This record gives sequence, C-alpha cells and structure tokens, in this order.
Amino acid sequence: MTDIQASGASKTVRVELGARSYDILIGPGILARAGEEIARRAPGIRAAIVTDETVAPLYLARMQDVLRQAGIASSAIVMPAGEATKSLSCLGEVVDSVLADRLERGDTVIALGGGVIGDLAGFAAGIVRRGMRFIQIPTTLLAQVDSSVGGKTGINSPRGKNLIGVFYQPQLVLADTEVLSTLSPREFRAGYAEVVKYGLIDQPEFFEWLEQHHAAVFAGGPERVEAVARCCAAKAAVVAGDEQEHGNRALLNLGHTFGHALEAAANYDSARLVHGEGVAIGMALAHRFSAQLGLISGQDATRAVRHLQTVGLPTEISQIPGPRFTVDLLMDKIAQDKKVSKGKLTFILTRGLGQSFVARDISAEKVSEFLAGQLD
Ligand code: NAD
Ligand code: MG
Repeated sequence: MTDIQASGASKTVRVELGARSYDILIGPGILARAGEEIARRAPGIRAAIVTDETVAPLYLARMQDVLRQAGIASSAIVMPAGEATKSLSCLGEVVDSVLADRLERGDTVIALGGGVIGDLAGFAAGIVRRGMRFIQIPTTLLAQVDSSVGGKTGINSPRGKNLIGVFYQPQLVLADTEVLSTLSPREFRAGYAEVVKYGLIDQPEFFEWLEQHHAAVFAGGPERVEAVARCCAAKAAVVAGDEQEHGNRALLNLGHTFGHALEAAANYDSARLVHGEGVAIGMALAHRFSAQLGLISGQDATRAVRHLQTVGLPTEISQIPGPRFTVDLLMDKIAQDKKVSKGKLTFILTRGLGQSFVARDISAEKVSEFLAGQLD
C-alpha cells in the first residue's frame, strides 16, 4: 500500500512511476494553494484551463486568480457539461484553443472538472506538441478517487465508450475536498460507489471504516479527506504495479462488467443511470453472483449490499427507471464489453468481504442463469 503523508488538514499521496512520479494533494482549501503548488514545481509556465459550463461559474474565476497571484497567466476553454463532451469534435476544439493561445510544450494544460473534463483535457495534453505538461484539478468525488489518478485519458467513439485515448500521466493532482460540497447529492453518491469499491476489492478494514463513518464522509471534514486519500493510495499502488492495465489493475473493475452492461442497456441516459449507480448495482450483482457460485457467504454478500443501500445507492436492476431489460439484452452488452476475451467472460468476483479476485473463465450460461434470477 502506498503511504499517505499528512500535513495539517491535508494529505499527500505519491504515485511512484519512476521519472513520471507525481503527487496527489488532498484536502480542504487546496484550490487556494493551487497557484503556489504549480509555480513551485514549474516556475514561469503558462496554463490553459479546460473546464465545463457547470464548474466554470463556480470555480474558474477563483482558479485564475490564484494562478495570477503565483505569476501564472492562464486562458480558459469552457466545454458543455456531460459525457457527450468526450468527442472528437470537442477534442479538436481544446487542441485548437491550446495552439491558438501559443502554449509551448513546457506550458501546462489544467483540467478543472469531473472525469469528463479530466479525460478530455488529459488526452489533449498528451497529443498537443507530442505531450505538454498536464495537471488534474478534479472537482467530483469520482474524479478525485478514480479518474484523475492513473493516467488513462480519452474520449468516446460512436462505436463505444473510451475507445480513443492514450495513457498519459499528470504531473500533479490537486483534490480540494471542499469543492465537492457543490456537487448534487446524486453525483456525490455515485462517486461514493467507487469509494466503497476500494474497500470491497481488498481492504475489508476500510469497508468497515466506511460503514461507521459514511455520514461524516458525506458531510465533509476530516473523514472525507481520509476517505479520498485512502482511495488515491489504493489506486496509486495498483497503477504503480500495473501502469497500462496488463494484470491486477483489472481488480479496479469490480462491479464494472455488470455496471457497464447496465449503462449500455440504459443507452447511457444519465437520467436513468449514471456510472457510479451502475457500479453500485454491478457490485451488488458481483457479490450476489459470488454467493450463488458458493464463493462467499450470503451474509457477507448482504452486508456489502446493505452498505450501498444505506447511503441511498441502487442495488437492484429493477431500480433503474424506464423500459425493463431482458437477459438477452444484458448478455449482448456484456459480450460487447472489452473485458471479454476469447469467448470466456472475465468477472471480478469475491471470496469474502474485501477479497476480490479476477475470474477469467466464467461461462456465459452461468451468467445468464444468474441474471434471469435478478430480473424477476
Ligand atoms: P462529469 O465530469 O460529467 O461530472 C458530473 C457532473 O458534475 C457534471 O455535470 C459536472 O459539470 C458537474 N460538476 C463537476 N464538479 C462539480 C462541482 N464541484 N460542483 C457542482 N457540479 C460539478 O462526471 P464524473 O462522474 O466526474 O466522471 C465521469 C467520467 O469519468 C466518465 O466519462 C468516465 O468514463 C470517466 N472515468 C475515467 C476514468 C479514468 O481512469 N480516466 C475512471 C473513471 C471514470
Ligand atoms: Mg468506474
């Protein structure tokens, strides 16, 4: 496990990747320190801030102020909010804006926003001038605990999600836990599903801690900082061991095979299902499926599901509003998922609370039998 360094109310996690190592600073008021933290590491640079129409009115002026105070001139490009922004045309707009501003290779692209902005801006940073400096300032819980760390960047194709992109690590991640207070409760909860995921992967003691402290994590304060830091440390450790997802990084997909299939079946309609909700239902399904396969006790499966329910996350397919799904539709979506190889289905299953493992040889028949029982 990667160390967490504490200093005052904030914490630092280092992602160890040799020459490409970087710090994640986590805590309240980190945004106010962004200028000095960036200037200290890269004096004299200029910045292009990429953000979206929801985040801009909340944080853009403040961001540009603190950069200016640290001697960093910045321009901004404000994209529409939402998943549709991870497109070739929006990528083109960002790339063109960075070039039009005459930023050089040593200058920086800053992503100020959720995972959509981080994925888009990171990809742009990775390809403009063959790779500019890149800084992540994640403003959603999901982005702070997941998408801003690890270097996966990219956009969607009409043929599927995240199909176009590069691995490109940021040089710094600044996670201000106070900015999460303007998130909608639904977006916060969705990000919390990914927090629970780290506990359920391989940290039973973190899962128990969340059972006790979830209300404080939602309310803000030191528990929120602690939770974000523990997730970042867990992701940093996985990324350090498997930067380009050849092996154990797959464990981070707990709940995601079912989750992605549900998102696809709901046509990626965020009114019906957002990613974290799909992951919550997916984790509940992975635990019930593990119980059905005799890998985990019914009690442990119920305990995982109950915690998700306690914070108001969905755990049943029937909770997704809109037209009902069929087993065939879900199996079709699972088969299209990129985690399928040579006809065998790969699932992240579990042998107990916080004891997940990669199962590469699950037969489609078992999965469809299980899903039939879940759709009743
Ligand atoms: P998002 O970026 O769309 O943000 C969700 C919503 O919250 C948006 O409407 C946004 O404008 C708004 N918002 C952001 N910060 C806010 C704040 N502080 N206050 C109020 N509103 C705010 O979605 P997300 O959930 O952050 O990220 C989802 C994306 O992340 C997906 O595209 C997914 O593919 C990607 N992702 C990438 C990785 C990776 O490793 N690169 C990992 C997980 C997810
Ligand atoms: Mg996810």
